[in-house]
Amino acid sequence: MRIILLGAPGAGKGTVAKLLMEMDGSVQISTGDILRAAVKEGTDLGKEAKGYMDRGDLVPDNLIMKMMEVRLQQPDCQKGFILDGFPRTVPQAEALGLLLNNIRIKLDFVVNLEVPREVILDRLTTRRTCANPDCQEIYNVKSNPPAADGTCKKCGTKVIQRADETVEAINNRLETYTQKTAPLIGFYEKQGLLRSFASINSADTVAAIGRALNA
Ligand SMILES: [Zn+2]
Repeated sequence: MRIILLGAPGAGKGTVAKLLMEMDGSVQISTGDILRAAVKEGTDLGKEAKGYMDRGDLVPDNLIMKMMEVRLQQPDCQKGFILDGFPRTVPQAEALGLLLNNIRIKLDFVVNLEVPREVILDRLTTRRTCANPDCQEIYNVKSNPPAADGTCKKCGTKVIQRADETVEAINNRLETYTQKTAPLIGFYEKQGLLRSFASINSADTVAAIGRALNA
């Protein structure tokens, strides 16, 4: 498959991506991974990117596109890829469209994971994280609670609710996501590439994406 995966925080993007990779051996690609790999390998593009990162600057889009061009043509992408967290903006989406055209790769479609706000709030506000920085085990007060005294079952450290997982913080994150992503959704809708999938149960979502790919 050759897809772009869009989804709000708490939409289950990570789980869906993992299940999709298992389905046909496609690889998950994020700009963060590409940057880290290029810097680690010390490629020319990696060195250039590191310069920006060391100065605390954002790596410019044209450099990210060059890395994307290299990455998408690596052998492990032959089976397919899932672009995760990229593109983020319409200019990036336009640049990606040109790039894919140049390297003769055709996207199947753009997956938009749709989850009602109440479900996202319920998923994220019930999350708890082990406060031990070396552990960070994740719990859920409903489906996977920590020990009865509120400590981590693995290391015994206190389990906490992260500051960005309170109702207020999540509402803010969802608002920011919607504002930033709306133009991108509109862009792909116009191109006839957008497919929306309900993402309540990851296995069902992945099955529906599989059917759409084979249709
Ligand atoms: Zn722990």
